Amino acid sequence: MEKIPFVDLHAQYISIKPEIDAAIAAVISTSSYIGGQHVKSFEENFAAFVGAKYCIGCGNGTDALEILLQAVGVGEGDEVLVPANSWISTSEAVSSVGATPVFVDTNPLSYTINPEKIKTSITAKTKVIIPVHLYGQPAPMDEIMAIAREYNVKVIEDCAQAHGALYKNQSVGTFGHAAAFSFYPGKNLGAYGDAGAMVTNDEKIATQARRIANHGQIKKHYHAMEGRNSRLDGLQAAILNVKLKYLTDWVEQRRRGAHHYNSLLEALGIQLPQELPESRHAYHLYVIQVPNRPKVQKYLHAQGIETSVQYPVALPMQPAYEHMHYQPEDFPVAVRQMGHILSLPLYPELSDTQIEYVCTNLTAALSI
Ligand SMILES: *Cc1c(COP(=O)(O)O)cnc(C)c1O
Repeated sequence: MEKIPFVDLHAQYISIKPEIDAAIAAVISTSSYIGGQHVKSFEENFAAFVGAKYCIGCGNGTDALEILLQAVGVGEGDEVLVPANSWISTSEAVSSVGATPVFVDTNPLSYTINPEKIKTSITAKTKVIIPVHLYGQPAPMDEIMAIAREYNVKVIEDCAQAHGALYKNQSVGTFGHAAAFSFYPGKNLGAYGDAGAMVTNDEKIATQARRIANHGQIKKHYHAMEGRNSRLDGLQAAILNVKLKYLTDWVEQRRRGAHHYNSLLEALGIQLPQELPESRHAYHLYVIQVPNRPKVQKYLHAQGIETSVQYPVALPMQPAYEHMHYQPEDFPVAVRQMGHILSLPLYPELSDTQIEYVCTNLTAALSI
């Protein structure tokens, strides 16, 4: 068996090479590197895919979170609730706009923010909740939006890992006041470099976000305010436009892969990913829990199978947040899980044979 990488971006490129090459050539032949038709059409297509009124392209997913926080008026003195397990962008964006991230423990089965714990973390300073649809699993948006209404706070969804995920048959990113997407190459919809987007149904947020991302301009050379430079570039937009057509199929293939893993691993009695009722998990990652993770990873590595951990240290336990003096007991679920979670390879091009090879070796690793 050949090596099984954790992700295989090249396999996806090869499967659509003529279209991608033509899209890149089209951008170069018209020099539409910044702004222009490709960006405009991707924004329209992605808004339609998600089912949101507005889509604004930007430099990356971290910028998308930051700009949206600014667009809804978050700044100095404000608190923003974020899950204890996520990629650091979620909390970093909060600090970047001068506010304070307040970490909330996650749910043991779904890995997403725990609504009960949200309630006990809200204070008079709380302005926004950022639920993360972690690994592609939709956070429980009905409960989160009910709390947000009760306490009059805004919700910005972090959809960076959840392109194609549905909650009650509706795309993630359409429940909160606005949502951030990342098109980092390894995401479910990935560019060939950095790229991101913001979506919303709120015209005011859309206008403000577009301004902030483009130097505060209302029209060329007229600045309503100081903004910043965060752009989706033409090459990335053209590539994303090609790939967007395949996204639904690719998510379906990820789901088939995940179900295949489930059926082969069921008998092991370890914690497998759970798809919550009324949700369509987009399986950005296939995350299990294992005892003695270092041993398991080492065994799989020796068999040519690359695995990963998302994430080995819960955010509040990172040195970056030492000054907040959080204790492991503050996040019993996230802290317990961080020592056991293991992400197995999963991407649309992964074959059944490869999945079977991973499962055979994982079974062996767990039995020694
Ligand atoms: C990838 C990711 C981001 C940030 O996206 P970038 O495009 O890399 O800036 C934000 N949140 C989560 C949960 C992510 O996984």
